[in-house]
Amino acid sequence: MAKLRNGPEYLERICSFCAKNADVTRRLVAGPGDVFICDECIETCRKILHEEDYELTSQFTGDIPTPREIKNYLDLFVIGQDYAKKALSVAVYNHYKRIANPAKPSSFGAPVKNDEVEIEKSNVLLIGPTGTGKTLLAKILAKKLKVPFAIVDATSLTEAGYVGEDVENILLKLIQGAGGNIAAAERGIVYIDEIDKIARKGENISITRDVSGEGVQQALLKIIEGTIASVPPQGGRKHPNQEVIRIDTTNILFICGGAFVGLDKLISRRIVQHPMGFGAETGSGEKTLKELYDSLHPDDLIHFGMIPEFIGRLPIVVGLEELKRDELRRIITEPRNAIVRQYQASLAYDNVKLEFTEKAIDAIADMAIKQKTGARGLRAIVERLMTDIMFDIPSIVGDKRVIITQDTVEKSEPPQIIYLQQEQKSA
Ligand code: ADP
Repeated sequence: MAKLRNGPEYLERICSFCAKNADVTRRLVAGPGDVFICDECIETCRKILHEEDYELTSQFTGDIPTPREIKNYLDLFVIGQDYAKKALSVAVYNHYKRIANPAKPSSFGAPVKNDEVEIEKSNVLLIGPTGTGKTLLAKILAKKLKVPFAIVDATSLTEAGYVGEDVENILLKLIQGAGGNIAAAERGIVYIDEIDKIARKGENISITRDVSGEGVQQALLKIIEGTIASVPPQGGRKHPNQEVIRIDTTNILFICGGAFVGLDKLISRRIVQHPMGFGAETGSGEKTLKELYDSLHPDDLIHFGMIPEFIGRLPIVVGLEELKRDELRRIITEPRNAIVRQYQASLAYDNVKLEFTEKAIDAIADMAIKQKTGARGLRAIVERLMTDIMFDIPSIVGDKRVIITQDTVEKSEPPQIIYLQQEQKSA
């Protein structure tokens, strides 16, 4: 007969793993014979199994994709930005190679020493206008490497103790992205967006502490370089004996991104004033953004307001180009998860073959160029176009082709609808 959970016999029982008495546990589960396990030990076992599973599936020994493989994968999703894709593929490959081959155990925070050659951590700084694919690149990289990934916004951070989020919350997001698995999070990728917004405000602007600029850069330094950070498990499930989660950031790859509006002017001014190297031009002609980023010097970033120590922790600086019309056109239809492909797949369930004329695609690209939001605007434009169609089409019976024309885009005219039965009859 079952024993009552609060009966004297039940309360005398103890967990066979941690020897806690039934009266101090939430639940004791009985095994065969006189064996019991408490709820806390069950949870511990679950965590151990989860961690082992993760380690088995994500060890980097032997199966780190080569830079070429990484770039080929990026090519499926990211249009253009060839140099950025190459530079990132190499940086990421080197980073995970370094993790997979630690020659000697490193003291935390110190670069790993490999036969007396220091292989430094290769955190990355992506510089480029909004909507050019900075976040997308980081996201796709994490997907390819099957590592936990978190996106955070630098503008939400403030120096510890001030209103806003502490920098450690970045790590909390990564831990959450890893399903609570600290070991996996310790090899993850963090993308910090809008890093340019924590630039130091000019020397004379304020006499108060710069808690959201220089202060945050200082606070981020340690985490980015590699340290054992203490993360408050706010929002997460609290462990009774643990106030903070300890996480080693040595092998976390940090990718910072920002538009750095005005940096191009700083670079071009410097080039004009101090042309460097033989044959350096005196900079009279207009330079493209790419040419300017190619001549970027760390001092330019320091003039912009980044502190030298912070820039020093981001050894790989990659400039992204403004997307050209042809690239915007390709983004509309080509990537694996292109917006048009998504609508085509969705409308196929309603017996609709969705098509865009070449001129319609031109018109969408031109609109995005006018809006100056890069590829970010494309989705909004297509979504606006499709709202009426998505509303009306499911009520129209039969197989049909829906053709989006230039006039649909530019003059909000209804799309052309061709009923396939009619088409067959007239054929
Ligand atoms: P940002 O450079 O501002 O971080 P995002 O990467 O967030 O820009 O881009 C916004 C959206 O625009 C992405 O979700 C993606 O759909 C699209 N996009 C931007 N750049 C590209 C690109 N080079 N190739 C394909 N899609 C892109």
